Amino acid sequence: EEDVSPAKKLRTDHSKEVATHYNTLQEVGLAARSQSRIFYMRNFNNWLKSVLIGEILEKVQGAGSRDVSVLDLGCGKGGDLLKWRRGGISHLVCADIAEVSVEQCQTRYEDMKRRSHANEKIFRAQFIAADCSKELLSEKLDDPKLMFDICSCQFVYHYSFESEQKADMMLRNACERLKPGGFFIGTTPDAYELVKRLEASDSLSFGNEVFKVSFESKGSYPLFGCQYHFNLEGVVDVPEFLVYFPLFEHMAKRYNMRLVLKQRFSEFFDEKVKKDQHRSLMMKMMALEPFPCEAGGQQATENTEQYCHAKEH
Ligand code: SAM
Repeated sequence: EEDVSPAKKLRTDHSKEVATHYNTLQEVGLAARSQSRIFYMRNFNNWLKSVLIGEILEKVQGAGSRDVSVLDLGCGKGGDLLKWRRGGISHLVCADIAEVSVEQCQTRYEDMKRRSHANEKIFRAQFIAADCSKELLSEKLDDPKLMFDICSCQFVYHYSFESEQKADMMLRNACERLKPGGFFIGTTPDAYELVKRLEASDSLSFGNEVFKVSFESKGSYPLFGCQYHFNLEGVVDVPEFLVYFPLFEHMAKRYNMRLVLKQRFSEFFDEKVKKDQHRSLMMKMMALEPFPCEAGGQQATENTEQYCHAKEH
């Protein structure tokens, strides 16, 4: 008889489930999306990514890097392509486990290139469909000598915390081809916040009408493979894993990385917007809707934090 104990379930490889989920996600047009209750949250997330990416590009370019190369680890359908274009980078490598998403990302890039002005130089790009928690990306690069100024891993790293091996391979892919002084930036759910809310709940889940986070048990939380299910209005429903941040930070040291920033979304927002920086971009991206976004969306974003590691010289 098959052993279906929770321990066995945790040992199951969830990569396929994650890839299938993202491969079958429908491309929703902006009109339909704008009616969605998560519209403002998506815009808020996009704004945060734009600011983080913009600031890192400024640092890298300010330090003298002219031909900036970027690795977008877990690029999805290419939601950040325009941010890289705006940042004037020279080379982008996009990698994701969901091959359908990678194809859509490539199509978006080709469209962007086709529609650009003759005098605008759009970055070169390579698209790789691969499980970045299992496969070595450096072996798949068209240019085997390519080194990156930035690796951006937005809302992705937590999928790798299924096992130490996977988390390490994802980190290796993120960091081993970074130039000294380069940056690894990303966004991932805040494990402390998730556990705090779970412990405060009288069941194994918490959330509201917009999102739901469900665990299989509570009280003990393994360092790796601590699985939960995240459901966001039927748009996302995938197994994810808690990222124990001190361990993540420690593991990154193996790749000569030093943590330079870790902030919860709310802190990042307070710092940028209350100081009136980036306000106009946010207002544009929020389609001129005032902040705060809808309650559900806001609560979901409060569960999230951003990080930035720098590669030591
Ligand atoms: N970074 C994109 C963004 O910000 O719009 C997409 C984020 S989406 C929430 C998470 C992405 O991580 C999905 O596209 C998924 O396929 C990808 N992903 C999950 N596990 C992965 C793995 N092991 N290797 C590569 N990509 C993975």
